[in-house]
Amino acid sequence: MAHVAFIGLGRMGHGMAGRYLDAGFTLAVWNRSKAKADDLIARGARWAASPADAAEGADAIVTMVADDAASQSVWLGPDGAATVAKPSAFAIECSTVSHRHALELGGALTSRGLRYLDCPVTGLPDAAASGKLTLLVGASAADLEHARPFLTPVGSTIRHFGPVGSGTVYKLINNLMGAIQIAGLAEGLAIAEQAGLDMKLVLESIEHGVTASPGVIRHSRRMVARDFAGATFTASLRHKDASYAVALAEGLLQDPPLVSRAAVQAYDNAKAVAPDDDEAKMIELISRPKA
Ligand code: NAP
Repeated sequence: MAHVAFIGLGRMGHGMAGRYLDAGFTLAVWNRSKAKADDLIARGARWAASPADAAEGADAIVTMVADDAASQSVWLGPDGAATVAKPSAFAIECSTVSHRHALELGGALTSRGLRYLDCPVTGLPDAAASGKLTLLVGASAADLEHARPFLTPVGSTIRHFGPVGSGTVYKLINNLMGAIQIAGLAEGLAIAEQAGLDMKLVLESIEHGVTASPGVIRHSRRMVARDFAGATFTASLRHKDASYAVALAEGLLQDPPLVSRAAVQAYDNAKAVAPDDDEAKMIELISRPKA
């Protein structure tokens, strides 16, 4: 059976790695902190001493880590996967990274003979664990076709946006628009709360109104209830994604992306207080009465 190396076992990566075991692949795993691998090891995964050790002999190397710095380290660091990966192996970067990093990493890995796909995902950790992610792929059509057996265990929908980097462009605009919606929602709800509206009626009206989206509906309930249990997406990750999107916008658009920059500022504030809490918690900062 084909051999997969999976690197990064956080909220998303842990469930994704388990899908390769479910599908019968031989799996090697590495995570910065080993404890998150324990149950995967008990299910048959091989614990690797480093990203390079995981990548040894792998047909596909899949990474799901936090950001550019983490991605750089697990691929191109001294013990990085690229140091030993066999030529023609698939390099599948699922982390949400900046567009610039996706292009530079793609260039570095391709020059070593790897077949690189930028493959950020949408879907929450439960979708990661059940193989129902949407994969946003940037790659040559041929590489995507050959890589499909390594993608279908984790993704039920595969969208091919074009060459390397294009999956990341879509992922960044998706998460930027989400950032703007959620920050706007927090301000709208804060105004309603401080004006003394019946928040049950406000929620009901949002759900049936034109500004509702699945994300707005989910976060509006959590914000009003101040229920931030089971954080799926943190202020820190959202801030990172929105910042990467603004950098991309600034390189493409004539005028500064004003609304996007405001969303980054809102998440900067949220991250300063509670970086690892659910992104919806920003309502607590915003919904305070005027002194
Ligand atoms: P997470 O739970 O915080 O996991 C982050 C992972 O990155 C962990 O494995 C962590 O290792 C590792 N990591 C962080 N810094 C590192 C470094 N310097 N070197 C090596 N490894 C490092 O985050 P997540 O929610 O799984 O998100 C992972 C990626 O998926 C992010 O790019 C995120 O934007 C994206 N994403 C998340 C969601 C979501 O709903 N959560 C949805 C779609 C996409 P440790 O375990 O040792 O800390």
